[in-house]
Amino acid sequence: MKDCIFCKIGAHEIQAMVVYEDSDILAFRDINPQAPVHILIIPKKHFGSVNEFTAAETEILGRLVLAGKNIARQERLDERGYRLVLNCGEDGGQSVAHVHMHLIGGRAMTWPPG
Ligand code: 5GP
Ligand code: ZN
Repeated sequence: MKDCIFCKIGAHEIQAMVVYEDSDILAFRDINPQAPVHILIIPKKHFGSVNEFTAAETEILGRLVLAGKNIARQERLDERGYRLVLNCGEDGGQSVAHVHMHLIGGRAMTWPPG
């Protein structure tokens, strides 16, 4: 989608610190990390938010979570644990309107989230 920053990162038109890529998914380090490890995992295809997912996206959704798991292991987070987060909409704290899953780890998380 035109003027979408994460579409541009997905297409390598804007630089990012990429940690994983396949034909449909890109994972890159967050520009403003909230923990020692903070990675964003996106579908290259544009979805404005989780609200736009349908059953047709079942496969890509599963692959996003599996990519999160594999990257967590690559970053040596698997034993101590980590968090996978999808913020949706204003109340969910979503600031970029292209679906992205956060992989956050390297410190103990608190609950409930703020
Ligand atoms: P949200 O608040 O929408 O759940 O998360 C958006 C995330 O994208 C934030 O953590 C923010 O730091 C990150 N972000 C925004 N713009 C860029 C960018 O241009 N490059 C990278 N690597 N991260 C970005
Ligand atoms: Zn986009």
